[in-house]
Amino acid sequence: MHDLITLVIATRNPGKTTEIRDLLADYPIKIKNLADFGPIPCVQEDGNTFDENAYKKASFAARILGIPALADDSGLVVEALGGAPGVFSARYAGENATDEQRYTKLLSEMKSKTNRKAAFECAISIAVPSGPALTYEARCEGMIAEEPAGQNGFGYDPIFYYPPLKKTFAQLTREEKSSVSHRGKALRELRDEFDKVLIWIRRHMPVQEKHY
Ligand code: IMP
Repeated sequence: MHDLITLVIATRNPGKTTEIRDLLADYPIKIKNLADFGPIPCVQEDGNTFDENAYKKASFAARILGIPALADDSGLVVEALGGAPGVFSARYAGENATDEQRYTKLLSEMKSKTNRKAAFECAISIAVPSGPALTYEARCEGMIAEEPAGQNGFGYDPIFYYPPLKKTFAQLTREEKSSVSHRGKALRELRDEFDKVLIWIRRHMPVQEKHY
């Protein structure tokens, strides 16, 4: 009989933690997040790719806490803007800007552009304290709308038009969005392989502390 593996989600966001806990509810695993461990230093999200940033967050938490960690990073990639805002999605209009200020800036950058193609991308990294990590990546393709529409979701959802459903992400219910979104896809890919992930974690964590 194995000891129960503890996985820390490298976030303080209770919504993200609940989403992942629900998704992995059928697996023999204990899920915690950073709030369960008191103050730990912040990590710089200064990577050039979503994958790099997700790995930075996951491996930092894993090393500091001595247990496996999962982190995600995501953002919007716009073809006509050379991939911007990309890894700068959260800071596109400055550190303290609102979601509305960010998408308004993006709409103004897109004013003269006829190519409206865009994609949300998400990377999930699961790292162990010794360094190795697994990565899951997914994207969702759509278009930048001419103007915002819808009240749901967050971030760039009001201006991300998803042609198959003929709505912006902000006009979708939470379930509809999750069934097609970058995050939803990456998380389901992870869940579908989670038995293999657990084997991989055990192989890289030969002696896990029992008292977590
Ligand atoms: P993070 O990966 O949670 O740090 O998200 C980075 C930024 O990307 C967010 O602040 C949003 O601006 C944007 N973003 C990521 N996922 C979504 C989404 O599903 N809808 C809208 N915006 C998103």
